[in-house]
Amino acid sequence: MVDLISQYEKIKDEVKSEFDRVLDSAAFINGPLVREFQSDLESYLGVKHVIPCANGTDALQVAIMAYNFPSGTEILVPSFTYVATVEVIALLGFKPVFVEVYPDSFNIDLDDLESKISEKTKAIVPVHLYGQCVDMEGLMNLAKQHNLVVIEDTAQAIGADYTFRDGRKVKAGTIGNVGATSFFPSKNLGCYGDGGAIMTNNDELAGKMRMIVNHGQSKRYYHDSIGVNSRLDSLQAAVLKVKLRRLDQYNQARIEVANRYDAAFQPTGLITPPYRSTFTSHVFHQYTVKLADDVDRDGLNQYLADRGIPSMIYYPVPCHLQGAYRYYGYTEGDFPLTEDLCSRVISFPIHTEMDEEQQQIIIDGVLDFIG
Ligand SMILES: *Cc1c(COP(=O)(O)O)cnc(C)c1O
Repeated sequence: MVDLISQYEKIKDEVKSEFDRVLDSAAFINGPLVREFQSDLESYLGVKHVIPCANGTDALQVAIMAYNFPSGTEILVPSFTYVATVEVIALLGFKPVFVEVYPDSFNIDLDDLESKISEKTKAIVPVHLYGQCVDMEGLMNLAKQHNLVVIEDTAQAIGADYTFRDGRKVKAGTIGNVGATSFFPSKNLGCYGDGGAIMTNNDELAGKMRMIVNHGQSKRYYHDSIGVNSRLDSLQAAVLKVKLRRLDQYNQARIEVANRYDAAFQPTGLITPPYRSTFTSHVFHQYTVKLADDVDRDGLNQYLADRGIPSMIYYPVPCHLQGAYRYYGYTEGDFPLTEDLCSRVISFPIHTEMDEEQQQIIIDGVLDFIG
């Protein structure tokens, strides 16, 4: 699905020289490279504070912890997402309240969202699924009206641009109160292990989150709040520093791959290419299509696999029907659009190193199958 080896070949020298700086200084944790990357990412995103942490799941968890919500709090989240978004809410003892998605953009449905707001609702976690932003302007208006915190899960959309109706452009993850992202190797900005970051323009919140990632410590061995141990290590920061300089170029390469897939699949009438919302760029963390009813998805997946072509289902089971979350009482039929998507989406390989020849083999495989 991705080609991290060819990508590495092109940046090897730069990465190794940054690695040498870390190894020569032995500042493996909270070293200068972490601060350099943090400041580079702040400039890139145009955000006041970036707080690096150990992974994207922690980023979401720490953001929620910073608000000290009362017990019984409900947090609104799409059911059509990677489980991490939901997991941290449940883990902290809050109740994830699921929301439907739009069948075209696969992002959270604002009408359904509004209908799920109760007196216990304190926050919304919108997910910029597959690489394009939720309608954040509409969502922020709802949040303001109901006094809700917004924590953007931007693990799949780092680098995406969001355009407000007045033309103002900002980066995904910097619109809500907090943004949380992941540097898992296959993400658009990925390191060579685990990594994540939280971003905010709020000074006080940034201070709290910086404490929480470091055991709730205000000064050494004085702990004012319950925290966690969640750090980005210097070697990962070194990789990220090199790759951040290329993020726009990487995202552009993904968009070009997506455009070629679109052109090949649109005419079939059996494959609906990803919808592109007008208010956001799409950075194609995944290239995910919808198959028509009469296309056998498992058959296609197997047919491609037999030709050495990977394809994946993101995600086969919606969160509200996952075994772990059944106790919230959701049943099949609660989110018909989400459930329908789970039965018909399929994702094809997309990455920064895909050449046209390679892609043509994938396209031919898909077209041969659907005949
Ligand atoms: C990858 C991902 C996460 C979690 O990130 P990790 O670094 O793997 O913990 C959270 N939310 C979404 C939508 C993701 O894609």
